[in-house]
Amino acid sequence: MLDLKKDFPILNQTVNDEPLVYLDNAATTQKPTQVLDAVRHYYDFDNANVHRGVHTLAERATADYEAGREKVRKFINAGSTKEVLFTRGTTTGLNWIARWAEEILKPGDEILISVMEHHSNVVPWQQAATKSGAKLKFVYLKEGELDMDDLKAKLTDKTKFVSLAHVSNVLGVINPIKAIAQLAHEHGAYMVVDGAQSTPHMAIDVQDLDADFFAFSGHKMAGPTGIGVLYGKEEILNQMSPVEFGGEMIDFVYESHSTWSELPWKFEAGTPNIAGGIGLGAAVDYLSAIGMEQIHQHEAELIDYVMPKLRAIPGLTIYGPQDNHKRGGVIAFNLDGLHPHDVATALDMEGVAVRAGHHCAQPLLSYLDVSATARASFYIYNSKADCDKLVDAILKTKEFFG
Ligand code: PLP
Repeated sequence: MLDLKKDFPILNQTVNDEPLVYLDNAATTQKPTQVLDAVRHYYDFDNANVHRGVHTLAERATADYEAGREKVRKFINAGSTKEVLFTRGTTTGLNWIARWAEEILKPGDEILISVMEHHSNVVPWQQAATKSGAKLKFVYLKEGELDMDDLKAKLTDKTKFVSLAHVSNVLGVINPIKAIAQLAHEHGAYMVVDGAQSTPHMAIDVQDLDADFFAFSGHKMAGPTGIGVLYGKEEILNQMSPVEFGGEMIDFVYESHSTWSELPWKFEAGTPNIAGGIGLGAAVDYLSAIGMEQIHQHEAELIDYVMPKLRAIPGLTIYGPQDNHKRGGVIAFNLDGLHPHDVATALDMEGVAVRAGHHCAQPLLSYLDVSATARASFYIYNSKADCDKLVDAILKTKEFFG
């Protein structure tokens, strides 16, 4: 098992007089000293605007920021840094694609998503459908997993975009993206992947998945907030218009019109999140040094350890697949008769931080016929002791509310 708590200063504190057990990692993860130091170092020594300066600080800032992009490229096995666009996060990446989609979609075309999507993979497509006249279709579930028969039935030659979460932020289920990308391509559709909940936890190879687009967020993978990545295949990005306009993204500006910079900068208007790019690079270094296979294995062991203990609690409903090996480190649950907000508040009194609410997945919660759930989600620094604390805190909560 990994033992990394020492790298995360924030975890060394008490909350409500109890040692903090942080289990809200699907919302955002904590940052190791290595990432904090990289961001601090940039501001202490190299702070300057990138790409346009010739002075030493500007050159250092540009080199470190672009080195961050190269680290990300390697981390997801993209063919070129031209395919690695820095964004604010997953939401921005998905919006950029949907914005392009609304230009090329026509009435009669279809977009296929699933009922388990995060709002950031629903609302941009609703907008694209409304503006273009295309139809937005949903794939539903079977036993807590994506219903592949439903997907195959709804994927037709009318489908132009298939956009799915790699891992659900509520069900925890890992979707078979590689197989789905193949099906999408057989029908001539683009495959868009919301990698927000997979990239932090498992090895990602965008070429092996054959994703046309793949979006994720730095803050969910030990990196800073406000930085994320949209991977896109170079030939598709070349066909797309920039979404935002201004400095940095131009080649030449005439009075009457402008020409665009080459990839990836064509999409990156304005001063970028320089410290964010450098911090994300440091996060990628940190995760790579541990090894993504080890990280996946660590979380799988935690799930295997905690799941039987949770399943043994009477009145506890767990959502998602039965088979532990089909899920990442996310467990959404409800305790009979208790509102999940009360459960989360009671767990917080024990120092255990979990989420409660709709998790930005209202279509899924409506489908499951619940208004909210509690959610515990694990990361590299969590331990079996944290699992025990979660189980104990749930049992105490159950006892307290009778
Ligand atoms: N997609 C999924 C599956 C998520 O879990 C999240 C965040 O919770 C997002 C997208 C949105 O990520 P961000 O808010 O960083 O843009």
